Amino acid sequence: MIETTLVVKKEFTNKYKNGYPLILKEAVESTKDLKKEGQIVKLIDKKNVFLGRGYYGNQNKGCGWVLSNSSKSSLDYKFFYDKLRNALSKRKEFYYSKDTTAFRVFNGEGDGIGGLTIDYFDGFYLLTWYSLGIYAFKDNIIKAIKALVPFHGMYEKKRFDENGMVLDEDSYLTGRKAPEPLIVKENNVKFAIYLNDGAMVGVFLDQKEVRNSIKNKYSNNKSVLNTFSYTGAFSMFAAKGGATTTSIDLAKRSLDKTTENFNINDIDPNKHSIIVEDLFVYFKYAKKNNIKYDVVILDPPSFATSSESSFSAARDYKDLVKKTIEITSDEGVIVASTNCSTFNMIKFKKFIDEAFIESKKLYEIVEEYQLPKDFAVTDKFPEGNYLKVLFIKIISK
Ligand code: SAH
Repeated sequence: MIETTLVVKKEFTNKYKNGYPLILKEAVESTKDLKKEGQIVKLIDKKNVFLGRGYYGNQNKGCGWVLSNSSKSSLDYKFFYDKLRNALSKRKEFYYSKDTTAFRVFNGEGDGIGGLTIDYFDGFYLLTWYSLGIYAFKDNIIKAIKALVPFHGMYEKKRFDENGMVLDEDSYLTGRKAPEPLIVKENNVKFAIYLNDGAMVGVFLDQKEVRNSIKNKYSNNKSVLNTFSYTGAFSMFAAKGGATTTSIDLAKRSLDKTTENFNINDIDPNKHSIIVEDLFVYFKYAKKNNIKYDVVILDPPSFATSSESSFSAARDYKDLVKKTIEITSDEGVIVASTNCSTFNMIKFKKFIDEAFIESKKLYEIVEEYQLPKDFAVTDKFPEGNYLKVLFIKIISK
């Protein structure tokens, strides 16, 4: 096996000895031998002690992933087969469920292969490659899936762009083609899924526990505002739980997508509002007209710019919460969510706390969520647990 040796800087040696999987550019002495993504790399310390074996692939701030900490390992077919088999066997209970037919079966570094995720949609598999580097192992990975599980068809998304943008091309890979839409279930609520329609397929599977809690505990006879609503996922669960919902998203497609999701769930879209508008414009309107909601769900992207506003979760979450407090009723609940990986739960709670202090309101955090079990994470890479969700109850004085 041809492999390129990377010497880890002294101050980073312990990090990799402790199993940190992401190969940081600044952690290695030189990257000049990294020529072709997918090439195998061996990490050593300055005394030539083996630290790990992985591959070269540019993704966010990393230039590859360590896949093994054993010096004898080789990244061959058996290696990928074993990782996949292990991940699949951990998801057995998910395969048995009749109420939920979509979930994650392989979660990158949390399952031992950084740069690759695999989602299951009722017999169809969706593979997402996060760099050209991991894509180089495609043949072995697909061969292993075929050997391990029966499937209807497979689709793939290539997010080779360093910012994780999806290349716009046909996503079909092999097997049968999925119907458009493909209807899947999550806790018996249906989702219309489009596996071959650009970057997003119609649902973010990591929010299942949050959606279920909203439906079961926060919706009956409530007015619920779902912001950044996309396909109306939270709205459907709230509506199923007995709420009257308002969904707001800037993108025109959200109107059709949300209406479709309501229809397949026998929810009458005419009894709910679906607004296509910039949320920050709507905030002004709602405040002026003294409109208030019992529950407001905030699930913004990490970054967003429109002609009317610009939002960065790390910079603006506090202000987003302050604006939300103004349109939430006394004793109301704000569900604040973020998938931004540049800050952790402690910092997120600080944003919330500052927003309430500046708004001169009291609050109580009544529920807290991070990634669900199928989104496996490793304690060697805490930033992989990117999802942070807080249920915040406003206390009226
Ligand atoms: N909450 C959604 C996922 C949100 S994806 C879910 O549960 O599935 C982010 C969404 O934010 C996109 O649909 C995008 O169109 C929307 N968006 C971005 N900027 C916005 C803005 N300023 N106002 C309203 N929606 C916005």
